[in-house]
Amino acid sequence: MSVLVISTDKLPTKLIELFASQVPGVEFRLWPDIGDPQAIEYALAWKPPPGELAKLPKLKAILSFAAGVDHLASDTALPRHIPVVRAVSEASRLTMSGFCISQVLRYHHRLALYESFQRQGIWKQVPPRDMTETRVAVLGMGVLGADLAARLQALGFAVNGWARSFRAFDGVTMFSGADGLLPCLASSNVVVCLLPLTPQTHGILDAKAFAAMPKDGYVVNVARGGHVVVPDLIAALDSGHLEGATLDVFEPEPLPADSALWRHPKIVVTPHTSGRMTNQRVALNIVAMLREVLSGQPLNNVVDWAKGY
Ligand code: NDP
Repeated sequence: MSVLVISTDKLPTKLIELFASQVPGVEFRLWPDIGDPQAIEYALAWKPPPGELAKLPKLKAILSFAAGVDHLASDTALPRHIPVVRAVSEASRLTMSGFCISQVLRYHHRLALYESFQRQGIWKQVPPRDMTETRVAVLGMGVLGADLAARLQALGFAVNGWARSFRAFDGVTMFSGADGLLPCLASSNVVVCLLPLTPQTHGILDAKAFAAMPKDGYVVNVARGGHVVVPDLIAALDSGHLEGATLDVFEPEPLPADSALWRHPKIVVTPHTSGRMTNQRVALNIVAMLREVLSGQPLNNVVDWAKGY
């Protein structure tokens, strides 16, 4: 039985060697050297070239290297009846939550202001924020959002959650559906976007959304660049309505050198690093996912193409 590792990004050959050593009895093939397509039963995919997965007649499941599957959704030839399993793990939840919490705390402790004071040699205390008065909205209460919401609460923050369908989460004030978005934002000082990118969520953080937030609010986008309408965000920051934003994801990536985002004084830019783990950790997570899929147990974290994520 063979697993095809397929990506338009160059993957380290060491990775394939590690898979082979950890999952014995399986032949790993690295695209484009696919050999006999009839022998390939599983594909490990990251941004595969459109149409390539449709050429594998015996494919039983596709394993996505990432939690987001927009890199697969854009392949119109992708056979939709083949299950797609998303890569999520305890380590990826912790990594993403940790990054988001760092930005919430940066806002909460007014670190941007104190960093600017330091650059000017100014010793000045401004009124602190009370933990319970900082309410954080988590947009997308899925595998990652739910983890973040729980960890924020453990730190003492009040948390709003927004999802497509209503589900209760301990201690979280939940909002759902398109009608729930603006009411959710209206009471949220910090908004963290952890949504999948779908036609429904594209451009969801726009002028209307920013206007709904309280004055001096803060936006953290770690999901996909397409969620934010950049000119609307810049207008909300320049008008003084929003205090700042942390953007980790962009459309396109890498962020072009002439983008105004690089130099905006109220924006923190990070290069799609919020969910990054060491190669070793990524490889071990993939190995665990492969073992689970190959064991024949019911699949977890399977994409529902009817919902689009
Ligand atoms: P999940 O599929 O587990 O959760 C998605 C959540 O978003 C669910 O709560 C879902 O609602 C909600 N949602 C989807 N569509 C809508 C909508 N139209 N309106 C309201 N809520 C909606 O995803 P994950 O938590 O695993 O990952 C979320 C995203 O984070 C990924 O798709 C990816 O884009 C991004 N990501 C970014 C990384 C990075 O490196 N920057 C790393 C990993 C992920 P419901 O519960 O009702 O289904």
